[in-house]
Amino acid sequence: MSVETLALLAAALFGLAIGSFLNVVIYRLPLGQSLVSPPSRCRHCGYSLRWFDNVPVLSWLFLRGRCRNCGAPVSWQYPLVEFITGALFVLVVWLTPIGPLLVTRLLLVCILIVLFGIDLEHQILPNSITLPGIAIGVLLSLIAPPGIKDAAIGAVLGAGILYGIAAAYYLWRREEGMGMGDVKMLAMVGAFLGWKAVLVTLVLSSFAGAFIGVILMTAQKGNMKFALPFGTFLAIGAFIAMLAGDPLIAWYTGFF
Ligand SMILES: [Zn+2]
Repeated sequence: MSVETLALLAAALFGLAIGSFLNVVIYRLPLGQSLVSPPSRCRHCGYSLRWFDNVPVLSWLFLRGRCRNCGAPVSWQYPLVEFITGALFVLVVWLTPIGPLLVTRLLLVCILIVLFGIDLEHQILPNSITLPGIAIGVLLSLIAPPGIKDAAIGAVLGAGILYGIAAAYYLWRREEGMGMGDVKMLAMVGAFLGWKAVLVTLVLSSFAGAFIGVILMTAQKGNMKFALPFGTFLAIGAFIAMLAGDPLIAWYTGFF
């Protein structure tokens, strides 16, 4: 087995294990519960999961999505988050040279998965993630791309654009169309990835949001009032911008 294959295998296993922890964060953080104790339990009967009940993806498949003790269903979201984390870790390790940038990217992937899940389920983007995220992104830019200047501009631009849109929408409709959570989240993306990635993220997530929105509206036969969690789309856009931002910009500016 080559070194590259071993590295990707290690990335998959590491990602699966981290994904298991991200499940805990997605479930407990919005409820204000501790992330470290108590150990994972069945929500139905309180059975404490043993290590062999907690093997990412495999335990869920082996137990056919049910609690070993009481047979209550266990959400498919758990193995899905574990699988996605493992898969994205493999993709990032594959496309990133070993160094500080790899740490930055893996950390951002974890944050994006958590924000994706929490926004989808609760329509909130917790300050306890986005605000430290801005600080961590700026600090990491001291040792990794995009560099401190680009990161600082990115954070300001990310916050500024969405704050401007939110303010304009409020003046127009007299109601909140976009939460401040989105503003802080895009500032965080800018701090991690720089100002160009902010623009790519915004374009990609707007397209994704419009695309899914049209599908949902068609399915619901024209019910326009349907709040889509924009942070969920920002997470998808930021992930693509992180790995493919530069080629996308080169491709787009090639038209002019
Ligand atoms: Zn149970």
